[in-house]
Formats: sequence, C-alpha cells, structure tokens
Amino acid sequence: MSEDSTATVRDVVIVGSGVAGLSAAVYAARADLDPLVLEGPEPGGQLTLTTDVENYLGFPEGVGGMELIQRGKAQAERFGADFRHAAVEDATLEDRPFELELANGDSVRTRALIVATGASARWVGADGEDELMGYGVSTCATCDGAFHRGDDVLVIGGGDSAMEEALFLAKFADSVTVVHRRDELRASDIMAERARDHEKIAVRWNAELLAIHGSREDGVTGATLGSHPDGHPTEKLAGSAAPEAATEVDRETVDVGGIFYGVGHVPNTDFLEDTAVELADSGHLETREGMTTETAVEGVFGAGDVMDPDYRQAVTSAGTGSMAALDAEAWLDAESTRSEPQSADPAPSV
Ligand code: NAP
Repeated sequence: MSEDSTATVRDVVIVGSGVAGLSAAVYAARADLDPLVLEGPEPGGQLTLTTDVENYLGFPEGVGGMELIQRGKAQAERFGADFRHAAVEDATLEDRPFELELANGDSVRTRALIVATGASARWVGADGEDELMGYGVSTCATCDGAFHRGDDVLVIGGGDSAMEEALFLAKFADSVTVVHRRDELRASDIMAERARDHEKIAVRWNAELLAIHGSREDGVTGATLGSHPDGHPTEKLAGSAAPEAATEVDRETVDVGGIFYGVGHVPNTDFLEDTAVELADSGHLETREGMTTETAVEGVFGAGDVMDPDYRQAVTSAGTGSMAALDAEAWLDAESTRSEPQSADPAPSV
C-alpha cells in the first residue's frame, strides 16, 4: 500500500458520511478525537436521495433529507471533524493501527475504526436491467422522476421506499403502477394509505418484473411482468416451488417509459470480507451481544444501516452513530491506560 501523504495515525476514522457517520463524527469531535470522515462513493448516504423526513425528532414540519445531512456535516465540522472524499477498497485489521486502502491508492491508519458505510439500493435481477440502469431504470425517484413527465411508470417493491417513490413520481407521471410480489404491502400504514388514496397510483399484486425493454438511445419502452395467484412468480419460475407452479405464471408485456426500484438495500461491507469482522448472511456487520457497537475485532465499531437489518431509520442511525463514537472513546481510553508504563511501587513511608 502506498502511504497517505499525512502518514499520521488517526485516533478515529469513520467510514461513511450518512446520518450514522455524521452523528459519530459530532460525538468523536466533541471528545477531542479529531475524527477523519471518509465520505464514501455516495456522500451523505441515503437521506440525500429522499424528500421530506417527517419522523426525525425535533422537526415538527419535517425536514429535507439533504438539508438534514448538510446540517449534520456543518455541526461535525464546527467541532473539528475532517472530511475527505474517498472510498475504502480494503482494510487490514489484523494489526493495530488499522490500515485502510483507499480507491486512489492512498492509505490511512487509525487506532479505532467506525464503520458507517450504510447500504446501497438493491437491484431486482430482471433481464435488461444491466443495460438500462440509468437509461430509464432508476433506484432514485427524487433524482430521476422529473424526466418522466407524462409517462406511465412502474415502481417495484411494497415497502415504504416504494410508496415514497410512487408518491413522488405521481407528481410527474401520468400513471404509477406499484408492482409487488405478494398480496400485502410491507409499507407502514400511513405510507400505504397515502399511496392507496392517490388517484394516479395503482398496485399490481402478486407480480414481479421479469424483463425490461428498450435501448440506451430510446430509454425504457416496456416491461414484461410475471404474476402468480400465490405471489412470488420468479420463485415459481426458478422451480423452487412445485414444478407445475411455473406453468401458472402469467406473463404480460406493458408499455412504460420508466421503471423505479424500491426493493430495499444491501449493506456495504465488501471491504470487510477478508477481515475478522463478522458478517451475517445478509452482509450486515455483526456487533457483539447487548447494547454495544463493538464488533468481533477490538477497536472496530459499527453504526447505522450497515449493522442494523431491523430498524433502519434516520433517527436510529444517528443513535448508533453516537454510540459507536462513545464506545470508541471508551475503548481508546482503556487502551491508552493499558499501554502506559507501570510506575514502580511507591517507596515505603518511614
Ligand atoms: P423494505 O422494507 O425491506 O422493503 C422492500 C420491499 O421490496 C418489500 O416489499 C419486498 O417484498 C420487496 N422486494 C425485495 N426484494 C425484491 C425483489 N428481488 N423483487 C421484488 N420485490 C422485492 O425496504 P425499504 O422500503 O427500502 O425500507 C427500509 C426501511 O426504511 C424500513 O424500515 C422503512 O420503514 C424505512 N423507510 C421509511 C420511509 C418513510 O418513513 N418515509 C421511507 C423509506 C424507507 P416483501 O414485502 O415481499 O419482502
């Protein structure tokens, strides 16, 4: 690894600059740990792609996702956190200080590491998505919705993200069809009700996206949907159910001008795969039992969506971010006490 130009060993490096990383940065900076925040490939994380955040404590009228992130960054900088545009490619965690290899070939060394790399949008695996992602297929309605004024569009998924995407797209599109793989939404009642009550939004139940039609020149022109009365049509087609179930999958091609994915997220833990940090089958970083952000590697802490498969809220990410900084501070304190030379026994008093 080539050496970072500063060649210093930081007390704390925080990987990721979403709400968890920023919250960790505020706490670590206020504890005089001079944290360095490596912002990652998507600075600000998922909140920068969302519209209004209505459930973050302290904003009775709601707050824009981007505004919340910008405020958090300004707050962390005010207390002295450093920010650097950089993505981590690899981590060497066997020895301390830990070493992180960055995408530009630099490396950064740190005593404690807070992993707050969040999660990235999941893709569906439909035919044509590799070619057409970014050409009419999108994982971000707030980024790309305005290109679809007057179109008929599909939203894939049945959770809060899909509802939020559908509601946003309904401002521009002529019609929005939510395609959900079973017959019940996962979304919270309030979001589901808003989508259900919107005149431009319809739900296609027990259906999945099988193929996307179009070209990079013309964008998306259509889609093939599969549906099965018991839901999960792609599973039926893959033969994981009774063989006759595959024959009961109906295929239909529909004309649409845009397709938006809202099917959840995959944690960003690739750079930890060859380390002793434990990862769940889902890819989430495992923390130790109990109320802690400690991982299997002493001195490495996890915060936010990368370690949380359950809650995944902005406010819980801020909470685990602050916990990770407090855990890192306590661990660094204990480490420095352990490494201090032991003083000789005091001379006996006479
Ligand atoms: P999610 O809750 O995991 O929902 C993902 C949806 O996509 C589910 O309906 C799932 O179907 C479907 N799905 C997953 N993989 C699929 C595939 N390969 N093909 C077709 N469908 C697939 O994810 P999310 O909606 O991104 O929400 C994540 C968290 O963020 C949640 O806690 C949510 O409350 C929160 N959130 C809140 C708001 C808000 O309050 N404004 C907005 C966005 C997100 P199944 O239901 O069958 O599993």
